[in-house]
Amino acid sequence: MSETQQTLIDPFGRIVDYVRLSVTDRCDFRCVYCMAEEMTFLPKADLLTLEELEEITKTFISLGTRKIRLTGGEPLVRRNIMQLITALGDEVAKGRLDEVTLTTNGSQLVKMADALYQAGVRRLNISLDSRNTDSFKAITRWGDLDKVMAGLEAAKQAGLKLKINMVALKGVNDTEFGDMLRWCGDEGFDLTIIEVMPMGDIGSENRYDQYLPLSEVKASLQKEFTLVPSTHKTAGPARYYDVSETGGRLGFITPLTHNFCESCNRVRMTCTGELYLCLGQDDNANLAKALREGGAQALKEAIIEAIGRKPKGHDFEISRQNSGAAVARHMNVTGG
Ligand code: SAM
Ligand code: SF4
Repeated sequence: MSETQQTLIDPFGRIVDYVRLSVTDRCDFRCVYCMAEEMTFLPKADLLTLEELEEITKTFISLGTRKIRLTGGEPLVRRNIMQLITALGDEVAKGRLDEVTLTTNGSQLVKMADALYQAGVRRLNISLDSRNTDSFKAITRWGDLDKVMAGLEAAKQAGLKLKINMVALKGVNDTEFGDMLRWCGDEGFDLTIIEVMPMGDIGSENRYDQYLPLSEVKASLQKEFTLVPSTHKTAGPARYYDVSETGGRLGFITPLTHNFCESCNRVRMTCTGELYLCLGQDDNANLAKALREGGAQALKEAIIEAIGRKPKGHDFEISRQNSGAAVARHMNVTGG
């Protein structure tokens, strides 16, 4: 860490050095667990400009942030987003940041993979809930599987290391986990399976109908694969296993059946500059207001003050009695 950098430590002694940035709430897909088909997005005028996003991320870096993940909405549909990614890549090149990375649905990668690598991105998380054309369409509503698969290939060719994120959906992709794990092994991708989280109104869809506990997924995979608890540890929510048959790694993110908050090292900012201290809580700080009204120093103070009230954890629950949203905002607002 350079001399100019400080460290953000929350009231529970956790070092906060990871920022996830939702750069747009818009998306070219309409995944059934993430959004309703008819969505009202934020007026473009409410968004932080790319210059403001850069200033805020650089302030976080001066406060000890070592990793930044861009997400959304679909981060690669934000106009001129490469400008921000290039600026963050420069921070990595200077050693002020360990990593800039993205979570993406893969739809834009055919045209953007090379530019991402050139800007300094080395790894991507790609959301791919199914490799079956019909299920992929049923889940994403507007997605084109062929385009995403071509994007994955382009990313691989560009030299990017890929991890696949797959949300487990009861009755939709629950027969595909074994096939996905084998394919990831063949391609050299790690796989993370995610439990549906109760975020935002998703229209006619019901959370309880979608929810599949990963304990069941793991038990069924263990009939076919040898899952050895991995020594690989991150401060993130996933529990990892090495898969003997494929040589790959498998992660499970189980916010509902397993609480992962003790090691949380991250905060999330929306594209309008609200800093959320926990994915599952509503408390936030308005960094856009701080920057616009008070400038650089006020921004810095607002971040430090907000970290001082980062909560201990979330209270997600999905049950037959409680299938609604634990927080009103959608995942595309705070990013995954
Ligand atoms: N559009 C990009 C994508 O899909 O990768 C980035 C944003 S998306 C909100 C980030 C991640 O959140 C994706 O892996 C997505 O599957 C996941 N996600 C969205 N809504 C979710 C929910 N309600 N529960 C669990 N995961 C969710
Ligand atoms: Fe878009 Fe990602 Fe949400 Fe799907 S999960 S609708 S790709 S933001």
